[in-house]
Amino acid sequence: MADIKELADLMRELEGMIDTCTRCGACQAVCPVFEQTGNEADVARGKLALLEGVLQEVFKKPGGVAERLDRCLLCGSCEATCSGGVKIQEIFIRARAIITGFTGLSSTQKFMLRQILARPELFDRVFEWLGRFQKFFLKPLDNLPGTSCPRLVSPLLTDRHVRPPALKPFHRMVPSLDTSPGSSGKKAAFFVGCLIDKLYPNIARDTVDVLTHHGVGIYLPDNQGCCGIPAISAGDPETFETLVRHNIERFDPGKFDFLVTACATCTYTIKKIWPMMMKTGSDDLNTKMSEIVEKTMDINWFLIHEIGIEMDDCPQDQGDICVTYHDPCHLKKSLDVSEEPRALLKANPAYRYVEMPEADRCCGLGGSFNLKHYDLSEAIGKQKIEAIRSTGCSVVTTGCPACMFQLSDMLSKSNDPVSVKHPVELYAEKLKDSMTYGE
Ligand code: SF4
Ligand code: SF4
Repeated sequence: MADIKELADLMRELEGMIDTCTRCGACQAVCPVFEQTGNEADVARGKLALLEGVLQEVFKKPGGVAERLDRCLLCGSCEATCSGGVKIQEIFIRARAIITGFTGLSSTQKFMLRQILARPELFDRVFEWLGRFQKFFLKPLDNLPGTSCPRLVSPLLTDRHVRPPALKPFHRMVPSLDTSPGSSGKKAAFFVGCLIDKLYPNIARDTVDVLTHHGVGIYLPDNQGCCGIPAISAGDPETFETLVRHNIERFDPGKFDFLVTACATCTYTIKKIWPMMMKTGSDDLNTKMSEIVEKTMDINWFLIHEIGIEMDDCPQDQGDICVTYHDPCHLKKSLDVSEEPRALLKANPAYRYVEMPEADRCCGLGGSFNLKHYDLSEAIGKQKIEAIRSTGCSVVTTGCPACMFQLSDMLSKSNDPVSVKHPVELYAEKLKDSMTYGE
C-alpha cells in the first residue's frame, strides 16, 4: 500500500482537473471504445473515476489502472462534447506519464522509444533498411494497390494489410531546402513527420510542389525528428522532451513565417502537446518553442487562409470521380479544421464530392492503441468503411497519414479497391501542368 500512497501523491497535481467532471455521462454517447465494449471503465467518465480512485488509494495495483487508461484512442471526441470543459486529453496524457514513471516502461518500449525513435538518424536508417528489404517480410497485394501483408507469422503485424515502407523516403528524395519567398512573399517551414517521410513521401513531394506553385519559400531542415506523440502517448516524457528539443534546434523560428505540416497528428502535437508537456528548462528554448507553436498550422488551413484559395469558388458536384472525406479527430475536434481540406479537394474539377455519414467519427487507429488493441481498433475501423462504402466513391481522402494507414488496412482487408489519398494530393493533381519542382 505504501506504493499506492506514493502514486496517489504524484497524481495529486491532477486532482483539481479531475474534480471538474460532474459525471453527467454525455461522453458515453461519443466514445468509440465504449460503443464497442459498453464498459464504463472504457469511457472518459469511468477513467476519471478510476483516477479519483487512485487519489483515494482504493486500488492496490497501478498496473491495472495503466491498462485501463491505455484503452483510449486519445481521439478527443469526449472532450469536444463535454459541456463541463474537462481537459480530458491533458488529464489522460499527464496521468499516463505519472503512472508509467511509477511502473516503468517495458524493455521493448524502452528500446523502441529511447534507442530508436529518440535518435532521428538511426530511426531513418532503420526504415531505409526496412524499405530496402521489405520483400523478405512483406507480400504486395497486387489487386489492392498500396498495401502489403506479412509473409510470415508476425506478432506485431498479425493479419494487417499495411502500407509498406517507401523504397525511397522523402528525406532521401529532398534532404533539405531553403528557398526564397516568391510571389506570395511568405516563407513556410515544412515539418514532414515520420509517417509521411517513411510511408507516404508522395504527400511530401506534393506539398513542396503546391507551396512552390503558390510562390511560397520553403525551409526544410535536414535530420528532422518525430513530433514526439508516440513517446508521450506511451507515458515517456524523457523521449518526448529529447525529440522536441531536437526539433526546436532544427527549426529556427527566425527563418520562416509559418510552419506547415500535412499530418493532423503532428500539427496537433506541436500546437497542443508541446506547450502542455514540454519542460524546456531555459527561457531561450521556451521562447523558440512558443514562436514555433504560434507559427504552426495545417497545410489545408495554410493554403485556404494564408494563400487565399477561395472556399466559395470550389465546385462541389462536377467531375467523373467520386471522392469523399474523413475528418481526422486531431484536425477537426482538436484544431477545428474541417472545411479547409474539403475545399482543397473540391478545387480539383476531375472529382465530384460526396459527404460520407458521420465523417468525423474516429477511424479507430489511435497510434499505439492499434498495436495493443487491434481487435477493438478493427471493429471501430469497419464502421468507418461502411460509411465510405455508402457513398459509392472510389476515392477517400483524409488529412492525416495515420488515418490513411488505418483506412487502407480496413479497405484492403475487405477487398475494397477504394484509393486512400490526402487532399493535397488531389490539389497537386490539378496543378500538375504548372509544376516547377523536380527531383
Ligand atoms: S461529459 Fe465531461 S463532465 Fe460529463 S461525465 Fe464526461 S468528462 Fe465528465
Ligand atoms: S479520447 Fe476517445 S477513446 Fe478516449 S475516452 Fe475520450 S472518446 Fe473515448
